[in-house]
Amino acid sequence: MAKVAIVSGGSRGIGAAVCRTLAGEGYTVIIDYRVNKAAAEKLEYELRALGLNAEAYCCDVSDESSVKRLFSYVLKKYGRIDVLVNNAGVSNYELFTDISSDSWDYIMNTNLKGAFFMSREALGDMISNKRGRIINIASMWGICGASCEVAYSVSKSGVIGLTKALAKEVGPSGITVNCVAPGVIQTDMLKDISEEAVEMLKEETPLGILGTPEDVADCVAFLASDKAGYITGQVLSPNGGMVI
Ligand code: NDP
Repeated sequence: MAKVAIVSGGSRGIGAAVCRTLAGEGYTVIIDYRVNKAAAEKLEYELRALGLNAEAYCCDVSDESSVKRLFSYVLKKYGRIDVLVNNAGVSNYELFTDISSDSWDYIMNTNLKGAFFMSREALGDMISNKRGRIINIASMWGICGASCEVAYSVSKSGVIGLTKALAKEVGPSGITVNCVAPGVIQTDMLKDISEEAVEMLKEETPLGILGTPEDVADCVAFLASDKAGYITGQVLSPNGGMVI
């Protein structure tokens, strides 16, 4: 039976690239989405047309009962969970003094609490089978902090902390937990940032280019592979040299 990978936020951007890469490597991929059913189903059809295994499933990672439904569905239908990629994320761009309590909660509940809910459910199956890979998508801003993105930076620092602490706790069960902390990657997430700001970010990047979703997907595929069997609790940052 094919290995099963669940990718949160798999409908678009980095998540969609991760789904394509892991499906290409033989995984049955569960394409989780929150609202964008059309994009998730389009990706499911695209992968199936190539003879690959994929299924789109609606789950809001910030909703505990929605997460529980996703995992019980996958376990009942496919019987295993080998890889969890906590990719679903949202960002905001505002002055710290303007951040509302609701905006703070929205970012934390999606980016950090979502990774907690998803990992906790995945570990039920992984611990009893003494194998599994959890790969969290953080951000370079979680390492060095970004002005006007304090809530986002805090949530991603939290994801890095979750990765390190959980790696220690579940290592004895044969499970690795790692983190990919990308730099600036060309996706919908950049649409609220002005062209000038994106140009400036590019100029600040030693390699002089923005990253692609595939750059991140390749890191995820490596951490999921047998080649990364001795790597856990680590942060791999594809960022073009922006944070060294
Ligand atoms: P996009 O905005 O392109 O896509 C976000 C994805 O997350 C969508 O699939 C969306 O689903 C999903 N999503 C959002 N909220 C939820 C939720 N509550 N439950 C389930 N799914 C949800 O983002 P990117 O591809 O750019 O980002 C992916 C990850 O990479 C994020 O964690 C982001 O923080 C991180 N990252 C991105 C960088 C960048 O420069 N782009 C840089 C560093 C990190 P739907 O389609 O249904 O809305």
